[in-house]
Amino acid sequence: MSQEIKVDLHFHPNLNGFLSSDRSKAMRILLNCLEYDLTALIITEHTYKDPVNSFRSLYQIQQELIKVNPEKYDKLKNIFLFPGIEYMCTEGGEIVLFHDQVDHHGNAFMYEIMKKRHPLLLKPYGLTLMEVIDIAAHYKLSIYAPHPFETKTGSIKIFGKACSTKSFRYRISQIVSNRNLGISVHNGAFDSVADVLKELGVVVPFFEQITSTPPILLDEANSRFNSGGSDAHVPELIGSGIKINLFGELTRKNVYLSILLNKEKKVFKPKRGFFGRIKRLFAGFKQLGVTSREVITEKKIIKQIEKEKKELLEAYVRAWEKGLPIKDIIKLKHLFPGKSFMLSLSKLQIKRLKIAMEKKKLERKNKILLEAA
Ligand SMILES: [Zn+2]
Repeated sequence: MSQEIKVDLHFHPNLNGFLSSDRSKAMRILLNCLEYDLTALIITEHTYKDPVNSFRSLYQIQQELIKVNPEKYDKLKNIFLFPGIEYMCTEGGEIVLFHDQVDHHGNAFMYEIMKKRHPLLLKPYGLTLMEVIDIAAHYKLSIYAPHPFETKTGSIKIFGKACSTKSFRYRISQIVSNRNLGISVHNGAFDSVADVLKELGVVVPFFEQITSTPPILLDEANSRFNSGGSDAHVPELIGSGIKINLFGELTRKNVYLSILLNKEKKVFKPKRGFFGRIKRLFAGFKQLGVTSREVITEKKIIKQIEKEKKELLEAYVRAWEKGLPIKDIIKLKHLFPGKSFMLSLSKLQIKRLKIAMEKKKLERKNKILLEAA
């Protein structure tokens, strides 16, 4: 017999570390998880918002509350926090990575991998979708598409095709099924605002695209598992997610494995009266403020990355012109995210590169001739 549990697999704590205001926010997050009877919460913070410390501080505060006041906070033991990130790929689409291994201090295995082996994973736009999938597969990190049908940061962005086309659906379902990814069936980011608008008879397609993944895409994708979550950026909007079957006893490992086995599409949303909905609507506007600021930050990061790319391309050409050893030049190429390195060079740079390469070839030839003589 399996038991049904509620999980939120997409959440942004927006914590900056160990500030005192963060402490009260962390407490509100945990208490809201209790209020909505959540068994699991995945911290899927954006990489530019310090997921490593956000997860650790939330984890440590949870442990501390249980230890200091076991009578009051005993139930917190049954909420399992998992480390994750929401990663913005070079193509502009987002993907969620998560894992279960954490030590007593809240240091997560996946964050250690990111810091020590793949620092580009801590930087948005540093890696392509395929590169991220390869890293996740290598370290057995779990991965899912958080809002595959959304046109701005959904996987759709990666293909740049209109979302209603069959070919787009085919490509995304191919990636999900071939690379064994999970897919989100529900994303609650705009629920609080969309629900009230709907009651007023206003349907905003953008909200719909994020909220529910079309069943036809879910069928075609044949995902490894079905995911879903609140995508809340403020504690007040915790309360939606998916119901899954828990296999075995209630342990951290079993909760994690049950998430990965979930093929159901059971979405839950908070049931609230009129005032509750108004309260959530206000929280929804607060969240829109947070996400708009994120968009501004993301735009700045894109600009910065574009600048860095340009500098890197120029350095690559100059390295050829100055005759640096090949292995140093190749290192530069490896710094460049994605596989479009040569395609990104300007016509003039390609011309300069060809001349430099010809020169190098000629020098090598002369050297061989000289040695032979
Ligand atoms: Zn998100």
